[in-house]
Amino acid sequence: MVSTNNNNSTTTNNNHHNGSGINEAGGEPVPACLAGGMTREELFKKILEGLPEDASISGQRFEGASIILFTKNRSFLTVSSEFVKAIAKTVKKRIEVRADSSILDELEDAVKKIKAIVPAEAEINSIDFDPYASRVRIEAGKPGLVIGKEGQTLFQIKRDTCWTPLVFRTPPLKSDIINTIRHTIISKSKARSEFLNKAGERVYNGIKPPKWVRVSALGGFREVGRSCILLQTPESRILLDCGVNVASEENAYPYLDAGEFDVTKLDAVIITHAHLDHAGLVPILFKYGYQGPIYCTAPTQALMALLQLDFIDVMQGNGKTCPYTAADIKEEILHTITLDYGEVTDITPDVRITLYNAGHILGSATVHLHIGDGVHNIVYTGDLKFVKTRLLEPATNRFPRCETLIIESTYGNPNDIQQDRDEAESQVCRIITETIARGGKVLIPVLGVGRSQELMLILDELVKTKAMPEVPVYLDGMMWDATAVYTTYPEFLSNRIRNAIFGSEGNPFLSPIFKRVGSRAERELVISGGPCVIMATSGMLVGGPSVEYLKHLCDSPLNSLVFINYQGEGSLGNKIQNGWKHLPISAGGGKHELVEIKMSIHTVEGFSAHADRNELVNYVGKMQGLPKLVIVGHGEASKCINLAGQIRKQFRIESVAPLDLETVRLK
Ligand code: ZN
Repeated sequence: MVSTNNNNSTTTNNNHHNGSGINEAGGEPVPACLAGGMTREELFKKILEGLPEDASISGQRFEGASIILFTKNRSFLTVSSEFVKAIAKTVKKRIEVRADSSILDELEDAVKKIKAIVPAEAEINSIDFDPYASRVRIEAGKPGLVIGKEGQTLFQIKRDTCWTPLVFRTPPLKSDIINTIRHTIISKSKARSEFLNKAGERVYNGIKPPKWVRVSALGGFREVGRSCILLQTPESRILLDCGVNVASEENAYPYLDAGEFDVTKLDAVIITHAHLDHAGLVPILFKYGYQGPIYCTAPTQALMALLQLDFIDVMQGNGKTCPYTAADIKEEILHTITLDYGEVTDITPDVRITLYNAGHILGSATVHLHIGDGVHNIVYTGDLKFVKTRLLEPATNRFPRCETLIIESTYGNPNDIQQDRDEAESQVCRIITETIARGGKVLIPVLGVGRSQELMLILDELVKTKAMPEVPVYLDGMMWDATAVYTTYPEFLSNRIRNAIFGSEGNPFLSPIFKRVGSRAERELVISGGPCVIMATSGMLVGGPSVEYLKHLCDSPLNSLVFINYQGEGSLGNKIQNGWKHLPISAGGGKHELVEIKMSIHTVEGFSAHADRNELVNYVGKMQGLPKLVIVGHGEASKCINLAGQIRKQFRIESVAPLDLETVRLK
């Protein structure tokens, strides 16, 4: 079921439940509440009773928790939303009426009509039909013009063609991953329909109030990496995140071999955000035979697929085999149900979830789990940032209720206080200005998703305000693809950036200073060219284009190397920070020669996408009602323990820092 929440939602998106689209025509949101223990048959009977005699319902189906009815009566289809609204209020489910295939317009006629109804300025890019769902998927440069004022244009399309429209934004920067996702869903529409129906059948399969609730730590506790939690009630088994620790060979994967984890009995998986330590192992679930849904936001769906594909490449580049293939990622795409922030959805008979903005990376979510009609409420923060950044609004910490909070602690120690952002920004500005003035190049190794986009916004503003000279900023590595995803989902960005994109200021990501480096030849031109800024992956100099640039730029004192993110122990970045003066460069035949590092080295702190210690404590302290139990994870052991101790002392809340494989009973 989808329904409005009465809590603070950070975005004003419309629901777009099963299609990753921007709108969802019909299906009125209703207050969150289970339907009083009705069986599926009773529920359908009740719905049909509320419809007029000439409704001519020919079939019914689930799309996740939504109930879809099909009608053979064209005029009822046009007025159906009025009836559905009234019924939804009684049965507390999301209901939508669509056309039976017998009354759908022929495809050619429908295309003609849609093109006549939608103004040309909407820049329609593609129109695809999904006959199994009686839907038409319209991709446009300006989706707002396809939706129309208060959905008027959508209504016209449905009335005149009988196809129910779903609207998507054309990526302003070409995006292979978005195209792959959309193409996969369209080309497998029959399988997708069957999957969504099955997911719904599971949700409506009886309701028993749960007598107990417990969570098991399968990974990412007293450590960072491989985040994974198993939530169990007598009725449901739900996985929260399924990450991989890329820095560790021994402890790379969560404990999916723990006795209580059985992939074939898993009901649902919820992914907070795309980073590999939270989503890197999701495809393996499909390899092991999982057929159920993955719940996350639309940007997370795209970014995690991108990072997983990159992970396969990196593993291969290092001479290792990834435990899953691109085919498993396709299965993940086909089985993902995207949710907006604030959209309430039943995922099993006794668990209902809502995702909230976590302020960490695009689409990152904190999950609220409402169990057994209020028997227990859990909030799992995922990774969070509790102050505003350029890209994102701060994490939401207002929930209807929360008895148990599971919180990260990456910066959980008392001395983990981050430098002021303005100071960090002016430091970057100064380094770039000085380097350019002496005719040098600035190399910034970056992570593909998150901080690189934050840095792009900073550089764009520095150039616009003339604080820094206008030089080309080259982007090399997967961050260009990630940026394309950012531009596709402006609804998930901060108000300020969203206003800039939709207003006269323009989209900062499309600024002409940013130039993509797409080939080795282009990279060589950058290296032999004039003063510039180069942003390249990997962020810790553990391979990829950033290392290529370093080899060519390191022996000139005119150039600068700037670290803006954490350099893991053992990484080349870490070694240079610690004073390495020579870079070993392959001279062929297994031999290395040493090149002296003469470029100037800088480390700028303060761009972290994680909450620092103060933010973490504030996050808990400023919750609407304090939780009864706090479970601390996602931090080195000392940080988990220290933060748990502080929360206990300061707020008098029971707080624990469990080990991996420990189970905590919540009820
Ligand atoms: Zn993260």
